[in-house]
Amino acid sequence: MKDDCIFCKIIKGEIPSEKVYEDEYVLAFRDINPAAPIHILIIPKKHIDSLACLEEEDKEYVWKIHEAMNIIAKQEIIADSGYRIVVNCGKDAGQEVMHLHYHLLAGQKMGEKIIWNK
Ligand code: 5GP
Ligand code: ZN
Repeated sequence: MKDDCIFCKIIKGEIPSEKVYEDEYVLAFRDINPAAPIHILIIPKKHIDSLACLEEEDKEYVWKIHEAMNIIAKQEIIADSGYRIVVNCGKDAGQEVMHLHYHLLAGQKMGEKIIWNK
C-alpha cells in the first residue's frame, strides 16, 4: 500500500466508499462522480500504478478483477443488458488516480464510441 494514494486509503478504510464487492484480492466501489447510471471502480488490493506497471506476479489480481466484473454484473443485473469496461493508462488516457482501476459503466446505451465526454 502507498500512503499518499487515495485508493489505498479507501482499501484501508481511511476514506469511506460505497462498496459493492470485496474479496481477498479485489475491492469494488461506486465512483464518486458517475459517468453513467451505474459506474463502479474495480481495484486490486495491492498498489499497482497502472496497466503499464503490471508484473507476472500480479496475474492473480488480474484474474480476480475479471472474476469480480462477472460477479458484479450479476449483482447489478446488467450481465444480459451489457456494460463497458474502461481502463485509463497514463497521461494521454487521462488517468488521474495512479492506482490501477477498471471502470465498469452500465445502465444506459453507451454509444458507439469507446470514449465518453464529460
Ligand atoms: P481515472 O480518470 O484515473 O481513470 O479515474 C479516476 C476515477 O476515480 C474518477 O472517475 C473519479 O471520479 C474517481 N474518484 C476519485 N476520487 C475518488 C474517491 O475518493 N472516491 C470514489 N468513490 N471515487 C473517486
Ligand atoms: Zn494505491
